[in-house]
Amino acid sequence: MYIDTHCHLSHCFPSFEEALQNIPKDITYLIDISISPNEILSLTQKILPEKILSAFGFYPELCEQWNEEQKQNLKHWIKTLHPLAIGEIGLDYHHHYGTPFLQQRLFIDQLELASLYHKPVLIHSRDAFDDTFSILQNFHPGTPVILHCYGYGPAELEKFLTLPDIYVSFAGNITYPSAQLLRDALHLVPRERLFLETDAPYLSPVPMRGKRNQPDYIRYTYDHVSKILSWELSELCQQIQNNFSRIFLSKLTK
Ligand SMILES: [Zn+2]
Repeated sequence: MYIDTHCHLSHCFPSFEEALQNIPKDITYLIDISISPNEILSLTQKILPEKILSAFGFYPELCEQWNEEQKQNLKHWIKTLHPLAIGEIGLDYHHHYGTPFLQQRLFIDQLELASLYHKPVLIHSRDAFDDTFSILQNFHPGTPVILHCYGYGPAELEKFLTLPDIYVSFAGNITYPSAQLLRDALHLVPRERLFLETDAPYLSPVPMRGKRNQPDYIRYTYDHVSKILSWELSELCQQIQNNFSRIFLSKLTK
């Protein structure tokens, strides 16, 4: 049984119905991420099966349009749609969205909302380790912080692990031959802090690399990670299930 802690169903499939048909039975839970006002609003039209949990937040790309009105909208959606977590939120200096200041303002404001509503956060951080780390140090929401699609090396991981309540989620790129730094980082993650995800439709794992990713391919990442860690696959599945239950399921409010 597998859990996919991060995917974008609306980017993977042409329709929500098609997405539902393509989620295999051996995926017990999946977190579907919405990253813009339009995607969040479309959630109001959907009835989700129990295994699909939704998280949402404003992606760094939206930093230039973030204002008080958007903040009030987001608060309203958090109160009415009860997301499992706030995210993905964070910093992306690789894509130069807006300015670092605007990205930081959006990130910090959403960390404060996560704190206000007691929601875990799903962090996107690309080419922005120093600022991500210092913002989490200064504005930690006091709830679990999941580093989604972990993309740094072991040195950065050691620093992140000095922060409270940090969890690390690896995506399909950990299977790529060039990703030795990710595999080195994986070895340092305490087992009760580990998650795996597809980040579908992006980053398809080997042997599906190059194809559009989908939740079904999570099994390849599990398989790969169990080999890297020299764990039985069943042991890895059980550990992630335990972590997921502890962090997310125990706090579900409907
Ligand atoms: Zn994502």
